[in-house]
Formats: sequence, structure tokens, C-alpha cells
Amino acid sequence: GFRTGIVGMPNVGKSTLFNALTRTAAAQAANFPFCTIEPNVGEVSVPDKRLYRLAEIARSKEIIPARLTFVDIAGLVKGASKGEGLGNQFLANIREVDAIAHVLRCFEDDDVTHVDGRVDPVADAETIETELMLADLESIERRMQNLTRKIKGGDKEAVSQARLLEAAKNALEAGKPARTVEVDADDMKAWRMLQLLTAKPVLFVCNVEEENAAAGNAHSASVAEMAAAQGAGCVIISAAIEEEISQLEDDERQEFLSELGLEQAGLDRLISAGYELLGLKTYFTVGPKEARAWTIRADTTAPQAAGVIHGDFERGFIRAETIAYDDFVSLGGEQAAKEAGKMRAEGKSYKVVDGDVLHFLFNT
Ligand code: GDP
Repeated sequence: GFRTGIVGMPNVGKSTLFNALTRTAAAQAANFPFCTIEPNVGEVSVPDKRLYRLAEIARSKEIIPARLTFVDIAGLVKGASKGEGLGNQFLANIREVDAIAHVLRCFEDDDVTHVDGRVDPVADAETIETELMLADLESIERRMQNLTRKIKGGDKEAVSQARLLEAAKNALEAGKPARTVEVDADDMKAWRMLQLLTAKPVLFVCNVEEENAAAGNAHSASVAEMAAAQGAGCVIISAAIEEEISQLEDDERQEFLSELGLEQAGLDRLISAGYELLGLKTYFTVGPKEARAWTIRADTTAPQAAGVIHGDFERGFIRAETIAYDDFVSLGGEQAAKEAGKMRAEGKSYKVVDGDVLHFLFNT
């Protein structure tokens, strides 16, 4: 599945947020640095109203939302790229995630220690980003040496890899993360293979006090400005409230949210933002037994989408019977859509569209 790593300085609210996300006490929040030592992994359901609408129409017995994985990654301080403060483990864990949710402390609370003795989320973000950029520069250095040998041996692929590494290096040396480099679609695969830490999409999560949960505060405003300048996402959330909300029943939750002037729980906004950040899309399978949401990357073909359900579906793929979400809903279900000529037979090269209701035919 797709994995988002939760990172941030110690004591910014990562564990609190992770607990709220996964509704477990697995990641114990505590008021001292380095509390979370091993990465904790949790799965969350992706909120999607469309799935419930489809299930209602098809009278599906079971509803199975798409899932997203969050990993709570141990705290980091200055010097991580030199192996200080759990540094190496931290970098290794980040290398394995698809996207980064960077939690920033935007709340004032004298009872909660700040490692650098002041609340300054933009400086915190820079501290972590700097460590990641230094780590990237180091790994680029190492790879360049390898490539030079390969290029001398006439390896063409090595030439284009070296070109990408050079572009990343230039950005990093100018103090910019690798994600600011513009990469051609043709180079995208090779670029991803470089596994640069600062090339991963980033979502800044501003952790604010309860009273700022709706509108944010001066700290979150400066984070939003920084995010916009770097092409990163930004959400405002109060981890402490989210943890409370996660323990409420559904009806109580709605009441609590409206008292705070919020429409949607911050976690739902966070999960949706994570989904968007990863460039993910959803397709559905719908029947009387179950209605289910499946996650795919943008530009996924029908056989690849079938492969998300089972490898055999991809190998034996014949065609996908396809109904657009809007048609399924406005016409009132599969049979009606079919009668109206809105069920299409799509072949191997079909690129699945977000919201498609699919039914795969395959050889076993
Ligand atoms: P981590 O080190 O980043 O995982 O931080 P934790 O989640 O363990 O939180 C550190 C401390 O900050 C705990 O005592 C939390 O209760 C507290 N905390 C977390 N979020 C908030 C918040 O929004 N407001 C306040 N006042 N305290 C918070």
C-alpha cells in the first residue's frame, strides 16, 4: 500500500496525531524527546462519500474503504545526517515512504518542552529539511562516483542518471529541495529510483491549539506561506482535539465538531490531503455483497488496476466493464446504466478515471 511517514521535531505532537489517526494507544504520547523510537505503522480508512452512495444504490452488505498507511517516524534533531539523535534510522525510515507529513508545532504551551526552547515552525521545518538535503547531497556524491565508472564503460543509462543527479545537486546546493526540480515524464521512473529524500512530496501539518483549529494562527500562516513557495501542501489541525474526537461516537463527534466551527474532522482533511499529495485515484467495485474502494496511481491502465485486486486479474485481463461514477448514481445503478448504454467495455490501454465503477473480465 501507499505509505506516508509522519516526521517532525520531538514534542510537536506526532505521537498524539498518530494515535488519533489509528485510534490505538500503540504510540504512547509522552512529554519528552525521543519517545517514539521504533517506527509505528498504522492503517487508516480513506473517507469517501461516493463509496457510501454507491453502496446505498447497490444495497451492498459490506462497505470497504480504501486504506492508507501512516508511519510514525522517530524524532529528529540537528545532526541527523551525521548519525546523531537516531539519525541513520530516521533517514532509512524516510527512504521507505512515498510521501512525508511534516508535523510542525504551532501551539504555545509552557508545559511542553521545545528542544530549541522556542516555538518557530518555519525554523523547525528548515532544521529537518536541512538534514534531509545534506543526506541527499551525500548520497548523490556516492552515486556519482559509481556512475563515473559506468559512464567510462559506455553505459547509456548511467549518462541519463548522472544528468538527473546533477540537476538535483544544483537545486540542493542552492538550498532548495530536490522536489523543486522539474522532471520530464520520460525521466520520472529513473528519478523515483534515485530515492532522494527531498524529492518526496511533503505536506506540512500545522498543529495548533484548540481555539485555533478552524482558522489557524500566526504560526500556521507563516507555514502556509512557506508551503506555497515550495510546492508543498499545508493543513491546520489540532492533534490534541483530534485525539479526543477519535474516542467519540459518530453523533457526538458531529456535535463536537460544529461547536468548534469545523465541518470535517481534521484527520479526514489530513487523510484526503495525503491522498491528493500522493497523486492517488480511486476506483470502485460494487455489488450486493460489497462496495469497495481501490487505490491506484494516476495514469494506471485497466489491467494494472485489476492487478491491485489480484495478480491473476492483471495477467488474465480481457476487458473492464466500466461505468462512470456520475452515470452510476444519476441512473440509479448498474442495470439502469447498462440499459442506458452507459456501460463501456474498455481494453488493455484504458486509463482508469477517478470514480470509475469497474467490473473485470479475465482468463484464469
Ligand atoms: P512527539 O514527540 O512529536 O511525538 O509529540 P507527542 O505527541 O508525544 O506530544 C508531546 C507533548 O505535547 C505531549 O505532552 C502532548 O500532550 C502535547 N501536545 C500535543 N499536541 C498538543 C496541542 O495541540 N496542544 C498542546 N497544548 N499540547 C499538545
